Amino acid sequence: MIYLDYAATAPAPRAVADAMYEVLAGQYGNPSSQYPAGLEMKKRVEGWRRTVAAAMDCPPERLFFTSCGTEGDSWALRAAVWQNRHMGRHIVTTAVEHSAVMECCKQLEQEGCEVTRLAPDGEGNITAAQVLEAVRPDTAVVSVMLVNNELGTVFPIGEIARGLGAKNPKALLHTDAVQGFLTFSARNLGADFVSVSAHKIGGPKGVGALYIGPRVKNPRPLLPGGGQESGFRAGTEATAQIAGFARAAELRMETRQRDREHLQALKAHAVEALSSIPDLQIIGAGGAPHILPVSLVGWPSQNIVNDLGSQGICVSAGSACHQGKPSHVVAALKLPKRTASGVIRISFGPETTAEEIDACARALRRHHDTRMPML
Ligand code: PLP
Repeated sequence: MIYLDYAATAPAPRAVADAMYEVLAGQYGNPSSQYPAGLEMKKRVEGWRRTVAAAMDCPPERLFFTSCGTEGDSWALRAAVWQNRHMGRHIVTTAVEHSAVMECCKQLEQEGCEVTRLAPDGEGNITAAQVLEAVRPDTAVVSVMLVNNELGTVFPIGEIARGLGAKNPKALLHTDAVQGFLTFSARNLGADFVSVSAHKIGGPKGVGALYIGPRVKNPRPLLPGGGQESGFRAGTEATAQIAGFARAAELRMETRQRDREHLQALKAHAVEALSSIPDLQIIGAGGAPHILPVSLVGWPSQNIVNDLGSQGICVSAGSACHQGKPSHVVAALKLPKRTASGVIRISFGPETTAEEIDACARALRRHHDTRMPML
């Protein structure tokens, strides 16, 4: 199999599985138990918290484990709206957020919030000035992702944070950093909430983390209950998942610089290899080095994904090409119809090779030459 869908999820290395197995098989104590097996497990959870916090560059006491990136996004938005409930219920976000943010905003809208959704330019960019212009005195929270999962565009979170302080110092800033994990320092980013997910960096699925900054005084508990995660997110800790998360973060931190250079080189190689295919348009060659959206203009993306999939090549039609319609992210670019319906996302990881990219380029070329385009 040629796996070119790292933005969807990344394979876990053996060492991650081993770390999880060790906990599942041998270390089954509940971190809340007061005898040695429980106390020991509690200590280990705090160790893993320090590891993940180091990878995000934030104080461990401000990092909370969640069940996924989606959970962190929802928690952040709801906690921010709660903190500022007496000031206003206006939310500023973008039209290209992951569904985790988008759908939560829709829910909050049904509960009385007002949501401003900013449209990107034709390449998916949104400027800090655009975000700040939308901020009002009653804005409770601004939620802008760090890296877009379909386009790879990187949004100016630092600049937004600085401007927000001047425009509305009480408004809180959330960034969904799921696709930008290991490229930022939460301490320096300036966001009040930063959500991440383990399975995008080779950790297990079903575990994530949310950084909550010092301006959030008393975050509204996401799950009230037994007092875990400092009382803010109850539920027995997913010890094996958290162990795997920490191991993945540790491994990726060791190779972070080398991985980044490798991804940059791969992306440049992919742009060159794909550019010679007739009717192929690169949608965004800038941005994050692991995501490359392209369109085979006139050829429906779902057919491409199916055809390549049948040859063992995994790419995606955006994060979700819902029943043949372009995703909300692609739709927001306002591309011509034939371009929009041909968009696929190729995304790479540290294990990807140039030969795999070449095989994908050959398969795309074959698809172009042998399949009928749409009318
Ligand atoms: N946010 C972004 C930008 C993502 O790419 C994803 C996953 O694709 C998520 C949130 C959701 O993360 P999870 O799958 O851990 O819920």
